[in-house]
Amino acid sequence: MEPTERQAVADAFGIDLGNKSIGNGMTAIMLKTCTGCGATHYAFIWFHEYRHSCYDISLRALGKEAPN
Ligand SMILES: [Zn+2]
Repeated sequence: MEPTERQAVADAFGIDLGNKSIGNGMTAIMLKTCTGCGATHYAFIWFHEYRHSCYDISLRALGKEAPN
């Protein structure tokens, strides 16, 4: 991601880019461009490996950026 886009996405989803710790879970953003309308869809996920190979995963938000 370009730095400006990265910051814009972080701001939109309330992510602290300075926090690199994964000990208490971490956030992830997935992007998918819709082949139907060209919009970019974002999924904001939080996941935590609370025990070896055991994951706690939750969907925090969905977002959409309209095509240009
Ligand atoms: Zn679409």
